Amino acid sequence: MRKWGSMAKHTKRYDVLIIGGGNAGLCAAISARRTGASVLVLEAAPKFYRGGNTRHTRNMRCAHDAATDTLTGPYSEDEFFEDLLRVTEGNTDSDLARHMIAQSKSVLPWIGEQGVRFQPSLGGTLSLGRTNSFFLGGGRAMLNALYLTAEELGVEVEYDAEVIALEINGNIFTAATFEKAGQIYNVCAGSLVTAAGGFEANIDWLKEGWGEIAENFLIRGTPYNKGTILKMLIDHGVETVGDPTQCHAVAIDARAPKFDGGIITRLDCVVFGIVVNRHCQRFYDEGEEIWPKRYAIWGRLVAQQPDQIAYIVFDAPSLERFMPSLYPPISASTIGALATELGLEPAALEATVTEFNALVQPGTFDSSLLDDCRTEGLSPPKSHWAQRIETAPFYAYPVRPGITFTYLGTKVDREARMIMRDGKPAENMFAAGEIMAGNILGSGYAAGIGMTIGSVFGRIAGTQAAEACA
Ligand SMILES: Cc1cc2nc3c(=O)[nH]c(=O)nc-3n(C[C@H](O)[C@H](O)[C@H](O)COP(=O)(O)OP(=O)(O)OC[C@H]3O[C@@H](n4cnc5c(N)ncnc54)[C@H](O)[C@@H]3O)c2cc1C
Repeated sequence: MRKWGSMAKHTKRYDVLIIGGGNAGLCAAISARRTGASVLVLEAAPKFYRGGNTRHTRNMRCAHDAATDTLTGPYSEDEFFEDLLRVTEGNTDSDLARHMIAQSKSVLPWIGEQGVRFQPSLGGTLSLGRTNSFFLGGGRAMLNALYLTAEELGVEVEYDAEVIALEINGNIFTAATFEKAGQIYNVCAGSLVTAAGGFEANIDWLKEGWGEIAENFLIRGTPYNKGTILKMLIDHGVETVGDPTQCHAVAIDARAPKFDGGIITRLDCVVFGIVVNRHCQRFYDEGEEIWPKRYAIWGRLVAQQPDQIAYIVFDAPSLERFMPSLYPPISASTIGALATELGLEPAALEATVTEFNALVQPGTFDSSLLDDCRTEGLSPPKSHWAQRIETAPFYAYPVRPGITFTYLGTKVDREARMIMRDGKPAENMFAAGEIMAGNILGSGYAAGIGMTIGSVFGRIAGTQAAEACA
């Protein structure tokens, strides 16, 4: 184990040190620099992989008073707050959430001023055209714009630079140690912004909350968000917020890579079929709600099934109803043959589909609203979009829990300032993005809010950090 400070090369001193070069870190860097501070961003990944989970994003949710070129209508602060209360079931810091939502109004044009371009939402299953701003070219283009602006402003960035230690005395940060190309460097700074993501890529940490089943989870984003900075902060007496098992998790194709599969491995066809576990049993109402309001529960649901695997089963007419998938569905001409392809018991899957088909009631199918196609007498029911699975070929996707990001994080106040376990605010330590998402997201998720948390608290953290070091 290397001793902090020994053998280390000394780099120059900065006003503000930012750990993590994703959306939150870049927003903090730009706002700190615009406030006049000298800024260094340390990013663990090589340049090509810079920007962690932000690379995978498509949109952000901000309050706005009126339609814009790219948003179809207004989205008031109250409506945003109600949406947040609904998805988190009230499990949020209301004061901080209200503050974030109010700030999101000016963050939207501010992000545009930093060079990010938006485009109208695509149609389809997500229905976010009024509430969410989509990045032209996706998250990577968004990041490239932020990096360009930051660099033009004079922000310095080190890639392949993993922070491996923090020097914190009481509630005051003084220096950090990072490793780059086998060399150890020390960097002193007047204040610190941690924007190093959650701990979703740290399977051992996930196991502490979930047990051994976490081995079967797939991580949708960067392998670099291992939570090492969060752990250091906790060890140095920073107060935490959130539950270690709470996270954003969706059902993704079980054939996806272990890390970084991104958005294209997600499957949005649950509502068009039935979902069974490896015993061919259904376990939840696939038609409970409009898809954008419910997609984020399926990761957790699949995590509770044996071996953390499930299968979305549907028939030929449904194949055209959702976005094409990265991996083709597994298909067969009969339900029994489909089960064999999936390694399931044919008689068991046939029995489940036969029972489901028998209890589907007549109705008028409409995937754009909560239609009247439902089952009766089935447990669990399928409340909407229930249609018999009867037209060959039959299809299935195997799905596993895909972890997007974790919620346990550092407690912060309205200034994005970390709070210590003794209740004192940190003197010069701030946090933004996933690493403090649990302040807003106690549980649940509303599409686009990850980026809102990063941009709003990133901008605040940068300004506050610049002022704190003055
Ligand atoms: C597939 C996918 C799709 C998503 N889509 C959306 C979406 O459309 N809208 C939305 O709002 N949210 C979305 N999210 C969530 C969103 O990506 C995150 O909420 C957001 O990007 C977090 O930003 P961040 O800056 O906090 O973290 P990140 O963007 O992950 O950046 C953290 C950075 O810290 C670096 N780092 C970690 N440890 C260290 C260390 N020790 N030293 C130095 N650097 C370190 C990492 O390399 C990384 O670059 C999506 C996530 C995924 C995985």
